[in-house]
Amino acid sequence: MDIGTMARALRAGDRRALARAITLIESARSDHRDQAVELLSLLREDGREALRLGLSGTPGVGKSTFIESFGMMLAEEGKRIAVLAVDPSSARSGGSILGDKTRMEQLSRHPNAFIRPSPSRAHMGGIARRTREAVALCEAAGFDLVLIETVGVGQSETMVAEICDIFLLLMAPAGGDELQGVKRGIMEMADMILVNKADGDLLATATRTVADYAGALRLLRRRPQDPQDFPKAMPVSAVSKAGLEKAWEELSTLAAWRQAGGHWARRRSDQAAHWFGEEVRHGLLSVLEREPARGIMARLGAEVAAGDRTPEAAAAEMLRALGRA
Ligand code: GDP
Repeated sequence: MDIGTMARALRAGDRRALARAITLIESARSDHRDQAVELLSLLREDGREALRLGLSGTPGVGKSTFIESFGMMLAEEGKRIAVLAVDPSSARSGGSILGDKTRMEQLSRHPNAFIRPSPSRAHMGGIARRTREAVALCEAAGFDLVLIETVGVGQSETMVAEICDIFLLLMAPAGGDELQGVKRGIMEMADMILVNKADGDLLATATRTVADYAGALRLLRRRPQDPQDFPKAMPVSAVSKAGLEKAWEELSTLAAWRQAGGHWARRRSDQAAHWFGEEVRHGLLSVLEREPARGIMARLGAEVAAGDRTPEAAAAEMLRALGRA
């Protein structure tokens, strides 16, 4: 399929074209990369935008159950929702948590939903860069909401925060001690903390946990551009579906507020600049993995190892060689 045809099919909301386009942007082949760059430039002209929602939480907190319930609620209301995963572990295992067919079973079959597993790549940076491009493709395909899910293990949240408009943290009901262990950096990224499993025996603990998080959030600096009561903590249950409507209302309020205040557009411009820098840095590093740089690097490395040159002198020569390349 040529790029023009792919762009047209994608704009018309053709899911197969969307899936193929995502495969194209994930490809490591340089001719594919050229096509991907062309496709993204073409689609950008449409200016379609979705709400980009980041969702993070440790394994077992209920992310897939939440996405299934929350996504189904919105899909049933007629909203079109795309779910993309950023899974750092897929880089190691080569597979993906979302590859498991039992996840989001109903949502994955819903005509208003599109679910795509994490690309398997060697580096977290690569996964995040391509996920950002996949978000742009989903927007061009007319989705209203793009949910970017990540496993809360540190590095991946920071990357997802650089892709999304609003960042949600899903937490489990817990005692005060566990709350102490939550990294400040992650709390600072969150626009909303949803304490999941607020049902049955866990309801009382969940209510206390919400109060604890609300207290902790108040101690963090409020973002001056946001409404008074954000970032906020609230209880939800992905199983009983309690609190899901309310969570969506709150999210929509925050999104509308940021849009009206111009913060939304500013954040997106900053993110675009960030990813430009990342792309250039990545490109520069990949020069080292190709000839002729690779050969020169190996030769100089051997000379350093043999004691014929100092590491400093060899590095200076390498950089001079790159300057001439
Ligand atoms: P993930 O690893 O974060 O994707 O978590 P899962 O969605 O796979 O859920 C982990 C476990 O928590 C499963 O056994 C779910 O049934 C359970 N779970 C998820 N959401 C809820 C909830 O709202 N209430 C209760 N009681 N259990 C839940």
